[in-house]
Amino acid sequence: MNILVVNAGSSSLKYQLIDTDTDTLFAKGLCDRIGIEGSKIEHKQIAKGIKVKKESPMKDHADAMKLVVEHLTDPEVGCIKSMDEIQAIGHRVVHGGEYYSKSILLTDEVLEKIKLCRDFAPLHTDAHLMGFKGCLEIMPGKPQALVFDTAFHQTMAPEAYIYPLPYAYYEKYGIRRYGMHGTSHRYVSAEMAKLLGKPVEETKIVTCHIGNGSSVTAVKGGKVVDTSMGFTPLAGVEMGTRCGDIDPAIVPYLMEKENLSPAEINNIMNKKSGFLGVTEFSSDSRDIEDAIFAGPTDPNYERSKLAVDILKHELKKYIGSYAALMNGLDAVVFTAGIGENSPLLRGMVCSDMEYLGIELDAAANESAVHQSDAIRISTADSKVSVYVIPTNEELVIAKDTAALVSKN
Ligand code: AMP
Repeated sequence: MNILVVNAGSSSLKYQLIDTDTDTLFAKGLCDRIGIEGSKIEHKQIAKGIKVKKESPMKDHADAMKLVVEHLTDPEVGCIKSMDEIQAIGHRVVHGGEYYSKSILLTDEVLEKIKLCRDFAPLHTDAHLMGFKGCLEIMPGKPQALVFDTAFHQTMAPEAYIYPLPYAYYEKYGIRRYGMHGTSHRYVSAEMAKLLGKPVEETKIVTCHIGNGSSVTAVKGGKVVDTSMGFTPLAGVEMGTRCGDIDPAIVPYLMEKENLSPAEINNIMNKKSGFLGVTEFSSDSRDIEDAIFAGPTDPNYERSKLAVDILKHELKKYIGSYAALMNGLDAVVFTAGIGENSPLLRGMVCSDMEYLGIELDAAANESAVHQSDAIRISTADSKVSVYVIPTNEELVIAKDTAALVSKN
């Protein structure tokens, strides 16, 4: 089945066309600066290896979808003759609140529920709503499925998701741990379970999705028991520009000292912290690692090392505490931009973890960069398997969409 996967942001729209029968990616692309001067589309036709970049006005997401359809059906750069060859659209949706623990087809009732989740992720939800509308306008009648970042984490028990605040705030505002990156954690933990070669019900896996945004999840028997992100994606480990977990009392303290509004402190914690905040020069792990490899004479060396040391320290704590929670550990998985490409960080996290049964294969770890397949980076004797597994959220979205369409 050919599924168009759409990830709509406030001024961008990423897409992939995937055949779910053969797991083949036909085309992918990005519409950028939607509704802003200088809108452009980047489109790649995979089989022919053709890439096009074109400036084209897009006032809204419907204009962007129109352009996507034109590129997909173009005789030169396209991969299908007409939109009839696409059976359905699968959308990535950041927040499904407590309503959705699985993917679902879009209906008027579902749309109303999504609007109720808007408060949790206003920018993302508004963007998704524009994406649904754009698809509806350009491809009326085509089934649309929603795949939620929060869904996989809905198996957590109340003791993992209730914050010890007055309970009324959970009832009144839905304040609880939701977790994010669920589609990625679901994909890599399922791949890891297959590699372990024992029934999923018996597996205990920690998945580390480490990219610009990062989260760690404990998956026991195929179900999430805990995850590092919380009510919002600000929680958990240090990220590119997000601080992750800090003492909550710092927030009112800083607001008072620096005369900051709630929006300003929120902006500092989301956009000016993490790697960027500590190094004061970059949020990108490539720049930070370059400074570390350059050595102590590099002006950014000390802070870069500190930023990576902080992340290492936090990841070790999460892996250890999740092993304790699950009463054991079969495997640790690294995925996403940094997890898939940084032997330095993986090496630091997995060193001195013998007590837990982790023993890294240094050569395998060094070679695991830009892989398209899963690769084992622990030694043959390591009690706990450590793997790098490239994530593929789009494939999960396409497969869920195909399954929903086949059922209906
Ligand atoms: P993501 O959010 O998954 O796209 O990941 C983005 C992060 O991955 C950025 O910090 C990138 O610098 C990092 N990244 C991507 N490729 C590499 C690489 N080859 N080595 C180290 N970090 C990388």
